[in-house]
Amino acid sequence: MKDDKQMRKWLDDFSLPHPLVIAGPCSAETEEQVLQIARELKNSDATIYRAGIWKPRTRPGGFEGVGAIGLQWLQKAKAETGLLMAVEVANATHVKLALEHDIDVLWIGARTTVNPFAVQEIADALANTDKIVLVKNPVNPDLGLWLGGVERLYNAGIKKLGVVHRGFSTYEKTKYRNTPEWQIAIDLQSRFPDLPLICDPSHISGRRDMIQEVSQQALDLNYDGLMIETHINPDEAWSDAKQQVTPTVLKQILKDLRVRQLSTEAGDFNSEMLKLRANIDIDDSKLLEILGHRMKIAEQIGALKKANNIAVLQNKRWNEVLEKMILEGEQKGLNEEFILRIFKAIHEESISHQRKIMNS
Ligand code: PEP
Ligand code: MN
Repeated sequence: MKDDKQMRKWLDDFSLPHPLVIAGPCSAETEEQVLQIARELKNSDATIYRAGIWKPRTRPGGFEGVGAIGLQWLQKAKAETGLLMAVEVANATHVKLALEHDIDVLWIGARTTVNPFAVQEIADALANTDKIVLVKNPVNPDLGLWLGGVERLYNAGIKKLGVVHRGFSTYEKTKYRNTPEWQIAIDLQSRFPDLPLICDPSHISGRRDMIQEVSQQALDLNYDGLMIETHINPDEAWSDAKQQVTPTVLKQILKDLRVRQLSTEAGDFNSEMLKLRANIDIDDSKLLEILGHRMKIAEQIGALKKANNIAVLQNKRWNEVLEKMILEGEQKGLNEEFILRIFKAIHEESISHQRKIMNS
């Protein structure tokens, strides 16, 4: 994608004084529900109205969407409120119907982004239209697959592109419905800074009391927009009831969010930042020096083990180190999960240094 500058033009063209807001129900349920929610969102910061018409359900038996009839309801909502309309598409038939009903924004869901055949079919059906197309991250944490989806659309001549971060499935249950793995979106942002990045806190959190916190985190990381599931009567929603908020709550969430600036001209901010960053740089160099030194010791241990034909991995010792470091880390205000990640990485590198010596 050579010319990603073009990609954010659609977003800049809205000239919004705040991040882009996409709001609306998980699913369109009835004409009245679609219209009621849209009316409530008309006088809000929302620019785009979302509603699922075809719902990909992980297991059969759930509500699978109202189908094409819902597109007519969206057309009515658009005529009445002026909001742009967005639906999820998963195949060429969905695209064809959405285009026939003048839908403005099409998004590709997480369960579709994983499938290059499906994404290509959608890209071919959309070829050279000027629709806004948003690609949700695939259910698995794979940046290549996510970018691959964007590239397929880009190669089909679609220039108004964006990505939606909705988190990743895990087998273990965490506090999130889909763990955010923010680093993946940060990597994407640093590689394609002009590809609009939108957070979907509803599907990340899976519960309405976390929407505010996850949205704020996204804004702190410079996201360009939010997609928040909004329903007139969330508890009675036909899908994703736990994570939807009312239009009133949505407005309060948006009001309470703090939008950060990318930079400032303020001299005292910049000089203080320079000082603090210089201190960070010194610490980073020290960290590397200590790590290098630690690996030299590991190599000496490797030589000693080799001379005595002793196995590299000593589980008991390794578990003792981990436990001790978690305790010490806690006293220094460092989170257990972080200590585990760091020390596992150090241990892996240490083993590789030892093995090099032992097998030389
Ligand atoms: C949705 O937006 O309602 C949806 C089905 O999302 P996802 O593809 O992120 O699961
Ligand atoms: Mn949903």
